[in-house]
Amino acid sequence: EAKAAGRNTARFFDPAMQHQINERLALEAALREAIEQRRLTLWYQPQVDATGTTLGAEALLRWIDKDGRIVPTDRFIPLAEETGLIHPIGRFVLQATCEQLAAWASEPRLAGLVLAINISARQFAEPDFVSELRTMLVDHHVPAGRLKLELTESVVLEHVDEAVQRMEQLREIGLLFALDDFGTGYSSLSYLKRLPVDQVKIDKAFVRDVCEDAGDAAIARTIVTLGHVLGISIIAEGVETEAQLDFLQACGCDAYQGYLFGKPMPVDEFERFAASVATA
Ligand code: C2E
Ligand code: MG
Ligand code: MG
Ligand code: MG
Repeated sequence: EAKAAGRNTARFFDPAMQHQINERLALEAALREAIEQRRLTLWYQPQVDATGTTLGAEALLRWIDKDGRIVPTDRFIPLAEETGLIHPIGRFVLQATCEQLAAWASEPRLAGLVLAINISARQFAEPDFVSELRTMLVDHHVPAGRLKLELTESVVLEHVDEAVQRMEQLREIGLLFALDDFGTGYSSLSYLKRLPVDQVKIDKAFVRDVCEDAGDAAIARTIVTLGHVLGISIIAEGVETEAQLDFLQACGCDAYQGYLFGKPMPVDEFERFAASVATA
């Protein structure tokens, strides 16, 4: 009896586990505080066409902590999803991008840019998602076609019928959709036919070795060909070298995003980037 109880007690107070729990709770509290104190911000990573012209940007969340350090997204986004904090975060992202698009509307060189935002599964499943989005666009006088929603396959495939219905509703008002991290999920190629997306993003995992790895090269080529047959444009993410760009251009990729063109950057830096003449 005593021995068993002792074991249970020992397991409950496992110091390593307790440490993990404490760290998680501390991170959650810090994230809550960061949301309240508006210490979350968006950085923008250029998306360009084959001539190097800026088409727009992907807005990426950045959490700058009290010491001015960036907290890695993979540390806090999964936590935000588990705790539900992704809802206030998602609203912030939507509001901030709408404000940004509204501010650019009067600037000739920025007015045509499209901003892509990442939407997590829980956010997309919210009953009020469509109406909140619509209200936000109307309130900021932002044409829906300036906003692109990036969904991953897992978001869509969990409840395909509901997701497709929701996507069609939003596309009717003019929103654009991109399928993020394509090729990394359990995706079956046949699903692509059913999904009302405007764009597919070739995941950076395939781009990395596309010049050396025949398998990755074949995957990239196949995604481009299949996408084009279905009337979907293709963007490659994680493009870091000229050699990767050359290869992807030869495949017929429509757009590119990666460190070769620009890392995610604060908005003023992105505005200068977008307004400068293409050099590629
Ligand atoms: P993602 O949507 O696939 O975003 C692309 C990630 O690749 C970004 O990481 C970006 O900084 C990185 N990246 C871009 N170009 C290159 C490159 O050339 N080389 C390499 N090695 N990496 C590159 P980041 O900003 O850390 O974001 C990671 C993930 O966090 C995103 O993946 C997305 O799933 C999620 N995320 C970011 N912002 C948001 C947000 O506002 N809401 C939600 N729900 N998720 C977000
Ligand atoms: Mg993305
Ligand atoms: Mg991606
Ligand atoms: Mg990715």
